[in-house]
Amino acid sequence: MTSPFPTARPGDAGTGPLPPVAGDMPPSVGAFHYTRYTSPMPALVHGVEPGVHPVVIAGGGPVGMALALGLANHGVRSVVLELDDTVCVGSRAACISRRSLEIVERLGALPAFLAKGLPWTGGRSYYKTDEVFRFAMPHDDTQKLPPMINLEQYYIEHYLLQEIERRNAATPGLIDVRWSTEVTALTQHDDHVMLSVRQPAGAYQLRGAWLAACDGGQSFVRKSLGLSLEGTAYEGRYVIIDIELHSSHPTERRAWFDPPWNPGSTVLMHRQPDDIWRIDYQLREGQSTEDALQPAAVAEFVQRHLDAIGEGHLPWHTVWTSVYRAGAMTLPSYRHDRVLFAGNAAHAMPIFGVRGLNSGFDDADNLAWKLARVARGVAGTGLLDSYSGERIAAFHVNAENAMRSTEFMSPPSRGFDLLREAALSLSGRHRDIANLINPRQTQAVRYAASPLSSDSDALAAGPLPGEVMPNLKLGPDRHLSDLLQTPGFVVLAVGTEPPGSAEIEACLRQDPHLSVHVLRREDTGEPALAALGAAGATGASGATGASGATGATYLLRPDSHVAARWSGRLADGVLAQALARALCLPASTLPPERLSPATLSPATLPPTTLSSSTLSSSTSPLEAS
Ligand SMILES: Cc1cc2nc3c(=O)[nH]c(=O)nc-3n(C[C@H](O)[C@H](O)[C@H](O)COP(=O)(O)OP(=O)(O)OC[C@H]3O[C@@H](n4cnc5c(N)ncnc54)[C@H](O)[C@@H]3O)c2cc1C
Repeated sequence: MTSPFPTARPGDAGTGPLPPVAGDMPPSVGAFHYTRYTSPMPALVHGVEPGVHPVVIAGGGPVGMALALGLANHGVRSVVLELDDTVCVGSRAACISRRSLEIVERLGALPAFLAKGLPWTGGRSYYKTDEVFRFAMPHDDTQKLPPMINLEQYYIEHYLLQEIERRNAATPGLIDVRWSTEVTALTQHDDHVMLSVRQPAGAYQLRGAWLAACDGGQSFVRKSLGLSLEGTAYEGRYVIIDIELHSSHPTERRAWFDPPWNPGSTVLMHRQPDDIWRIDYQLREGQSTEDALQPAAVAEFVQRHLDAIGEGHLPWHTVWTSVYRAGAMTLPSYRHDRVLFAGNAAHAMPIFGVRGLNSGFDDADNLAWKLARVARGVAGTGLLDSYSGERIAAFHVNAENAMRSTEFMSPPSRGFDLLREAALSLSGRHRDIANLINPRQTQAVRYAASPLSSDSDALAAGPLPGEVMPNLKLGPDRHLSDLLQTPGFVVLAVGTEPPGSAEIEACLRQDPHLSVHVLRREDTGEPALAALGAAGATGASGATGASGATGATYLLRPDSHVAARWSGRLADGVLAQALARALCLPASTLPPERLSPATLSPATLPPTTLSSSTLSSSTSPLEAS
């Protein structure tokens, strides 16, 4: 029987479902209408594009586009080679975390994400028909962003693409997206990567000084380098069904364990924009994937589920079905000479806890500032190794949490099954046991052993080196992230004086985009100072305050992770040393050929009041040479 709606080919743990074979325009989903894009052939000399692009990105999925925008923030042009001629077809990522939204804000696409996405803060779990657990993600009025929004991946990619178009309108050719362009071969050389591609008008070759492999779970680049993902290819299978249903149920995550209408299984339900609802249910052992995806079986399951939750009277229709397998796998290294891996090309993650794209956005955010500096020749290539080390460490934290969720959602053995049954049946009466059901939604990961972090002081509170700076409220309409919309490192003097001008000058030689901000109690209030371990500081003088605190100074990386933190005002040389370490430069190394004299003029020295000015000269995008 032919399916009347788009049906994915089942993928595997590494890929997720694969889109239908290319053909006609994918049908609209809710208010979303697909566009097919075309790209002209570039000018060629004997089949080769002249010059060397600073960065070529294989794959224009969400991670590839996020990386391109991140590089653009740092003034580096890129070419994105995308096999398809449109954005993601079908149901994939839906839940985007607060941390990802912070990254998306730096990329410039936050307003569109927030305008369309559905914010939510928690969910509930049922055992058979009883509600046994409610969870709430940390959220209060001081937060700028919701802990999670639901937004379909085609919108995510569409909004990133719109931002790319906006950037290109301002700076033509900043991000050169080449649609219907498949990478078919690559070779690495001392100073570049040579790529062979084909598009409808023919094949050609191009060079990139660096290649970012963002070509997804089936990564051609990964396979062509003879690399494979390692880890747990867990066998749990989930049917993914998206339906259009005009329900007024609020946006929250609902999970039913062993429901009478689908005994022995787990069912999840999420609201997405445009009245699209995602229903996932676990296939039992021996249950045929093919049978489960038959339209009649899908219709029968959905109606049974809606009847059971009291929404069976509402009209609905299916817009997408596929099967997903859980798995947690990674490449052992994300750097292979001039090739860097990110997103699903680098790792596969179970969907529970929503760490797939969310961790891909973190990859892009981590890689963009490092690759940009290395491409510009103003930082050591050790930065790229630190990208690999930090993000692989983050993978292991994410994978452990995701696998624990997965084992609970779809127990891999009879033992796990019994454990889960016991937890579920006791959870109604025992709060501690109920916590076992917590879905452990994704959170920002600390780079605990980062080589970029410096030895730091103990503070009463505040993020540790390697942690993300929390987005504290600084005033009625002001948050810390407002100060961090800059491509450079940020020095944050909290309740203390900033480092002296000679020290800042030394730092500006290492990072021309460095900015300095001073947070005073009279501007920000005591809670923000307390949260940063600087409560009680007197501010202007830096003298010890009532509680004994002398203020604190933080050095923040462009991805808003803490590189170092100190108590009070800094001794000369400490900041420059920490910055050199965070840039993988020898402490004495200055890259003067990249600095304009204006960068160091007194006019660019830091303001000593709360401000968000960036202390740098603007740089034109790095061109293909
Ligand atoms: C059912 C489901 C639900 C999910 N839910 C969530 C969620 O709620 N939250 C979350 O964070 N994640 C979720 N994920 C995971 C998320 O979809 C992926 O992690 C995300 O798509 C990874 O993005 P990417 O850019 O790395 O790879 P992809 O999205 O796969 O993009 C790769 C791109 O590379 C292109 N490409 C491939 N080969 C070539 C080639 N040879 N040449 C040129 N281009 C090429 C492809 O056409 C594609 O556009 C979910 C996944 C599934 C399947």
